[in-house]
Amino acid sequence: MKAVMRRSTKAHDVGLMDIPEPSAGPGQLKLKVAYGGICSSDAHVLEMDLPASPRFQPPVVVGHEGVGYVAEIGPGVTGFAVGDLVAAETTFACCGVCEFCRRGDTGMCRSGRKSLGWSANGYWAEYILVNALFSHKLAPHVNAKGAAVLEPFTCGVKSILQRVKVNPGDIAVIWGPGPIGLGVVQMAKLAGARVVVVGTEHSRPRLEVAKKVGAYRTLVSGVDDVVAEIKAMTGGYGAQLCSDAAGSQTTFKEAIACVRRQGTVLMMTGPFNKPLELHTFEVLEKEVAILFAEGTNPHSWNTAVKLLDAGLVDLDSLVSDVFPLEQWEEGVAKTRRHEGMKILLRP
Ligand SMILES: [Zn+2]
Ligand SMILES: [Zn+2]
Repeated sequence: MKAVMRRSTKAHDVGLMDIPEPSAGPGQLKLKVAYGGICSSDAHVLEMDLPASPRFQPPVVVGHEGVGYVAEIGPGVTGFAVGDLVAAETTFACCGVCEFCRRGDTGMCRSGRKSLGWSANGYWAEYILVNALFSHKLAPHVNAKGAAVLEPFTCGVKSILQRVKVNPGDIAVIWGPGPIGLGVVQMAKLAGARVVVVGTEHSRPRLEVAKKVGAYRTLVSGVDDVVAEIKAMTGGYGAQLCSDAAGSQTTFKEAIACVRRQGTVLMMTGPFNKPLELHTFEVLEKEVAILFAEGTNPHSWNTAVKLLDAGLVDLDSLVSDVFPLEQWEEGVAKTRRHEGMKILLRP
């Protein structure tokens, strides 16, 4: 079968290859991939400009986001039928006995965890093997394209429901109107917040999508006075929640300036290979809580799937392009340029 393989840890040692089609082992499902998503972290993995991680074990098929139809059911698996639309969590295996696993925080397991696209073969192939324990069957009416965006959406679910507290009527400000940011937007809105999305001139088309999926207002950095606008919207107090899904020094600084006293700054990303500068007096005086959120866990998947099945979130609007798997390089280049929104590959 066709698959995009990361062959080694060398930069750009990635290519479309023909590899043997797998078959489902005990506890596994074999999915015929409908779509594999391109994440901006995939662009980093291709460049190898991320800090070294033991989680990354090439040779491996790329792609931790995606969705597929059950093609084969491994021994011992119940609750799935051939043809079901299924999205699997990134966790392929975890130790099951550490404190994190035992409380359902499998994404935090750091002992023997294997994840799709990093240490277990991912979605950028015709077929994928997934662990039935971490697989979610979707309602028959769900659109496979939107379902392919479940993984980044679950990051927003986890961050809003498990990392911070949002109260009805709060103002939440999100920097970075990409797929992750717009997942946070939809979850903060469901939690009752009025959500302001901040982008750049380059991201104006994405800000239009932000409005479509529920942003109360959008602001453009460098054109609008973001800090003054947020202060004006909040009676001078600042926002209860500022979430940075862009992760630059500039957006981080703006988030700190916009947050109210005792408010929360939630970081969804960061400049991976350099430190962030922080004026400690400013955050000390305001008693700002700075939190980080990465990845997902089964709880956030349960919620995300319920919301998608019930039509309470719009993930279809987050998909801008579908490329054939053969054109994966084009899709990655467009993702790296921050053009479009979520770009999917179709094997
Ligand atoms: Zn991702
Ligand atoms: Zn564990």
